[in-house]
Amino acid sequence: MRYIEEFRDGKLAAKLEQDLVREAARLARAITLMEVCGTHTMSIYRHGLRSMFPENVKMVSGPGCPVCVTPVGYVDMAIELARTPGVIITTFGDMMRVPGTSSALQKERGAGKDVRVVYTALDALTVAANNKNNEVVFLGVGFETTAPSIASTIIMAKKLGITNFSVLCAHKVMPEPMEALTSGQLKLDGYMCPAHVSAIIGEEGYRPIAGKYGVPCVITGFEPLDILRGVIMLVRQVADGRAEVENEYNRVVLPEGNRKAQAILADVFVKSSAVWRGLGPIPDSGLAIAPKYEAYDAAKKFGIVEPPSRENPACVCGEILKGLKGPQDCPLFGKACVPENPIGACMVSSEGTCAAHYRYGAGALAHA
Ligand code: SF4
Ligand code: SF4
Repeated sequence: MRYIEEFRDGKLAAKLEQDLVREAARLARAITLMEVCGTHTMSIYRHGLRSMFPENVKMVSGPGCPVCVTPVGYVDMAIELARTPGVIITTFGDMMRVPGTSSALQKERGAGKDVRVVYTALDALTVAANNKNNEVVFLGVGFETTAPSIASTIIMAKKLGITNFSVLCAHKVMPEPMEALTSGQLKLDGYMCPAHVSAIIGEEGYRPIAGKYGVPCVITGFEPLDILRGVIMLVRQVADGRAEVENEYNRVVLPEGNRKAQAILADVFVKSSAVWRGLGPIPDSGLAIAPKYEAYDAAKKFGIVEPPSRENPACVCGEILKGLKGPQDCPLFGKACVPENPIGACMVSSEGTCAAHYRYGAGALAHA
């Protein structure tokens, strides 16, 4: 525990705040930084860090929660499968409440469909092994962090000869949307790179963002002092006129990442175009199941394609995920849309910007 406490030390935080003020005073203009990870968003809100950032350093949230960026069409496909006789849907809990066009998995379960929450993909495989007369579909949603465990489960299913198991794959990778956002409407001056993702991919994936687009990148841990140090490193790079990949979280993230996990990913998945809520389709930003494992690809197995889908027009999740708007800009925030009754995906996951803002930000105060 002592280790964690050290990264929450108030005196050190005050010292870092002074360092940050000093670095920010060197900036020739106001800058905008983006944290692309949902856990960073949560941590920034929970520890009230935004109030410690100088006025000329603005921090916006990006597309770093896998639940938030999963498009409505995917949820609709999962619902269609849940309604298919003999199919058991297995999923992580967050996906249950994400609204589809006209239903949600939670509602389907209420209506008698077999939708089960599991904690790991391996649990889903166990459900398949125990229900040989059913088809068990696991909803594969997540970034480079969760994808290796799902890849291992697919490898294991093949090894064990379990044929009634498949994955509806919506895995995504992080550097590509970050690259896409650098040429978006928002003028970004730096990225706080996701910690868990970086533990898998290492520093390499961010090089084009820094090199080609001139946007500094700093891999940062989740503790308050990590975040403050990360912001200081980003501000320093901008003030120095540098754009490099730096690693604040080197106690966990190796420059080369986790080679073993990378090898598993390369075996089971191939890069594919993927649709991101708010950002649309981005080439090479998804992980599709490789032909060698296509028997475990639910979309192929059931011949299912994304149906035409529709989001609530008042929800501004898409703009929030691009860093263009905040939860306070949404007319539904804290009124029609609350964590118990989410209208958009950003209110579902605890890592979603709207949920974090509701719990720890202005929403929490207004509804305390
Ligand atoms: S998987 Fe981990 S690093 Fe990636 S966005 Fe989620 S919490 Fe952040
Ligand atoms: S408050 Fe709800 S409806 Fe509005 S953007 Fe956030 S998730 Fe979407």
